[in-house]
Order: sequence, then C-alpha cells, then structure tokens
Amino acid sequence: MPWRAEPGETADPYRVWLSEIMLQQTTVAAVKSYYETFLTRWPTIADLAAADDGDVMAAWAGLGYYARARNLVACARVVAATGFPVSREGLAGLPGVGDYTSAAIAAIAFGEPAPVVDGNVERVVARLTRLARPPKTVRREVEAIVAAMLPADRPGDFAQAMMDLGATICTPKSPACGICPLREGCAASAAGDMLDYPVKAPRRARSVWHGVAFVAVRPDGAILLRRRPARGLLGGMAEVFGSAWGGPVAVPLEHAPFDGGWAGVGSITHGFTHAELTVDVYSAAVPADAPTPAGAWWALPDDAGLPTVMKKVVVRALAMAG
Ligand code: SF4
Repeated sequence: MPWRAEPGETADPYRVWLSEIMLQQTTVAAVKSYYETFLTRWPTIADLAAADDGDVMAAWAGLGYYARARNLVACARVVAATGFPVSREGLAGLPGVGDYTSAAIAAIAFGEPAPVVDGNVERVVARLTRLARPPKTVRREVEAIVAAMLPADRPGDFAQAMMDLGATICTPKSPACGICPLREGCAASAAGDMLDYPVKAPRRARSVWHGVAFVAVRPDGAILLRRRPARGLLGGMAEVFGSAWGGPVAVPLEHAPFDGGWAGVGSITHGFTHAELTVDVYSAAVPADAPTPAGAWWALPDDAGLPTVMKKVVVRALAMAG
C-alpha cells in the first residue's frame, strides 16, 4: 500500500495521518487514487494547510463522509502551526482524529505502544477470545486485549500486521485458520465456530428521506451550483439547487433557483449510512444569460467536484435532456 513505509524506514506522520483519515469507513481500493492525488497536489502538511477549502472539498468529492475533508483542512492548519503531537493523547485532541486514528498514528509514526483497533482487529480479537458482546460496545476491553499482546518493540509493525491479518487471513466469511500464526491461542478456531464472531449489534432502522433537485443547463453545458452549509451532511460540498432532505416535499417548485421551464425527469435514490434518500429531479434548458442567484455559480458537471448523490442527480437530468 502506497502509505506504508519501506522496511527500515520511519513512517512519515503526514502520510500515515492522511491515509488513516481516508481509510475511515472506506476501502483500500477506493482510497488509493485519492491518496496519490492529495500527495501530488499537497506534498506536505504545510501545503495542505495553505490549500483553498473548496479545492480540498472538490478533491475529496466521491470519497464520502465529507466531515473528514473539513476536519482534514482544520487539522492540517493546527499541525502546520504547532507540529504533530507525538503522543496518542496529544493526537486525539486534533480535529477528526479519534480513538483509532490517534492510536494508529502514535504507533506507526511515533513508535508508541498504543493498541490499534480497527474493524479487522476487532474481528481477530473477537475470534481469539470468543468475545460475547459486539466489539464496538466493549471497546476498552478489546483495546486491553490488544495491549496485552503488544510486543516490547516495533508497535507500529505489530499494529499493521494485526490489521493485515484481519484483512487477508482472518477474513469475515472464510478465515484461513490453517495458515494463521495466531491459531494456537485462538478460542474460536479451537471451537470451530469462527463465523459466529464477532457478535453483531442489532441493526438500526434506516430513515427514509425525500427531496427535490433542480438542474439548470446552459447551452454551453454548464449547470447551476451552490455550496451546502459548512456543517452537517455533505457540509461544504457543491450541489444543485433543491429542498432539504426529510419528509415529502409539498411544493417542489418553491425550491427552484428561478421560475420557468422546469420539467420532472424522474428520481434517483442514494443510500447514506442512516437513511435512504429519494430525490425527484427537475431540469431546464436555460439561455446563456440565465440569472445567477447570489452565492451560486455555473460549472461543467465534470469540473464541479460533486458528491456522489449530486452526480446521480445531474446524470439523471442530462440523460433525460438527451
Ligand atoms: S485462527 Fe482463524 S479465527 Fe483465529 S485469528 Fe486466526 S484466522 Fe482468525
């Protein structure tokens, strides 16, 4: 993986931090190209701290969980001014750096013997000990088990090895116990009930949201955009005009940027972690001198840095426009 240090090299805290923030709730495959792009555009944390917020949000577009991008810039600015804290405790005070990420940076970049527990490690520990509760509900207990396993040296290598073991050997559906170096001490493997662990938490019901969106298309292909409020879901990202997301929208046209020419072109759906959203999409072909509401701007869809849900809206509108 591109963010790993070579054997004998000291890991660069900027790279470890950037990759760990990107990898929160996101797969390695999805992260790789974003990581390379960020490092090319902003090779040091000072470069990222000096970046324009909108450029960072646009570069993050498509990776999801956008609070991470806002925190990324905030954190870069703190660290560029004061340097990286070198302890887990200090790191945990940075914007967007939680329990897991602070432990990972402390162990991998600064050699602190901190227990690093991601989803892969949770699964390994749950199987090693036949943990009776969902690991997330007994986080301190899981950390204590990992802390007790820590070797006297190379805590960063140990952390990465445990995560890799979970990702490649102790996999969710087909753990390869036959080649696992932890097999001797593994309670679930001995009992043959590996797939019963980790115990799952009951699923929370997902909300159902509705919304409307309006895609105004100029003759040159540009669409009308605005920026979402800085806080909240997709905060600070570009979007087309439309309603807030929640209950059914009584009067869709109330949310259009201006009057005239709107035609319904169907709906799109998008899943967020806790909600399933349906957006009714309207589009209008507008003249080159169409009004630009305050704070809005026109951009070609490919250059707009849109989050995935907005890309779906725009694709729908443009497909129906033919
Ligand atoms: S022995 Fe099997 S269940 Fe236990 S940690 Fe290894 S792969 Fe996972």
